[in-house]
Amino acid sequence: MRKLSIFGATGSIGQNTIDLIRRAPDAYDVVALSGGTNIAQLSKNAIELNAKIAVTAFPDQLDALRDALAGTGIEAAAGEAALVEAASRPADWVMSAIVGAAGLKPGLAALEQGATLALANKESLVCAGKLLMETAQRNAATVLPVDSEHSAIFQGLVGEDMEAVERIIITASGGAFRDWPLDQLAAATVEQASSHPNWNMGQRITIDSASMFNKALEVIETREFFGVRPEQIEVIVHPESLIHSIVGFRDGAMMAHLGAPDMRHAIGYALHWPQRQDLPVERLDLAKVASLTFKAPEAARYPALALAYEVMERGGLMGAVFNAAKERALDHFIAKKLGFLDMSHVVAAVMERMDGESGLIDAPMTLDNVLRIDHLARRAVDDLAPERIG
Ligand code: NAD
Ligand code: MG
Repeated sequence: MRKLSIFGATGSIGQNTIDLIRRAPDAYDVVALSGGTNIAQLSKNAIELNAKIAVTAFPDQLDALRDALAGTGIEAAAGEAALVEAASRPADWVMSAIVGAAGLKPGLAALEQGATLALANKESLVCAGKLLMETAQRNAATVLPVDSEHSAIFQGLVGEDMEAVERIIITASGGAFRDWPLDQLAAATVEQASSHPNWNMGQRITIDSASMFNKALEVIETREFFGVRPEQIEVIVHPESLIHSIVGFRDGAMMAHLGAPDMRHAIGYALHWPQRQDLPVERLDLAKVASLTFKAPEAARYPALALAYEVMERGGLMGAVFNAAKERALDHFIAKKLGFLDMSHVVAAVMERMDGESGLIDAPMTLDNVLRIDHLARRAVDDLAPERIG
């Protein structure tokens, strides 16, 4: 039996992972599951999968979790330190599907104990890619991509030499506002930004798809994962979301990965890697699909995209600044304190401010420095956001 843990088990990726696990109950020994405020879901899954421990990220939820697990023999724990402790319990395979930079510490702990880390939590690569990859290397641990684009690229690279890679083309659906008149974007509401044309995902990544902050994170994620240069990474809007990404080789060949927009494909690939197993995903009927369309992303519609290239050009800890500022700006947008387009303005302003004021950007990429600059960037958003509102 393979020992596995799922962090962010109650979320969209976590639930899709559990859907695959529960189809083969005898194959897996579940060590830890984590969640947030949805205690009913967390406890239900922990009991169903007979986990050793269930952890909520939030200490004020511990009593509820204890009550829900009373008499089951399953341990209950809460808070960041408990997440890290659970992630350091031996497991062969760990799903990193917490949303945001909060996924970084548990991800590092899982790598420290040598687990294979299935990485949905792209934020941890954006804010501390080098640290994460070095931790994996030091512990002979493997990091596998779960983001659909990066799983597609990873699959396109099987058996290839990186020297043969000329470019990587990341596809983007274009999000909720791809066909909106540009002059209406500033007034876009949280509700409008929270519905995705093709994918069913958590609210935060869905809004990030509308703004393309998600694609911006994925551009940086591509650099961190595959070590390609920024100028080798392209983004193309592909509204059907059937091609998940493309690798272009030096001989002009392009290897595209196609499949239904269902995250169980990428999760299942990471779960069974290096083999392939049957997966319960829809098979594409290309005659029905009939056509695939593409267009270049408009800079005015997706200002977040250019910021990703600025982050890579600046280097150092700018990824941590970018991710933290993006997360905090998104908090303000969800709280209706910041407009849709203001998010990218505020993030750009914070990047500029942190670059000018603090030598910390060029500090070594240690966990402490990443967390410090993350904190400062969030505070800078709080300072700047009211100006945008006023
Ligand atoms: P979600 O909001 O549905 O779930 C997030 C999970 O994280 C929940 O279990 C929640 O309880 C937990 N969580 C929230 N705040 C936390 C905190 N402060 N500390 C610890 N745990 C916390 O999110 P999702 O859509 O499943 O996305 C999870 C991750 O996967 C994100 O990094 C996202 O970018 C990435 N991802 C998601 C998809 C998708 O299809 N949903 C696709 C690609 C990548
Ligand atoms: Mg993606």
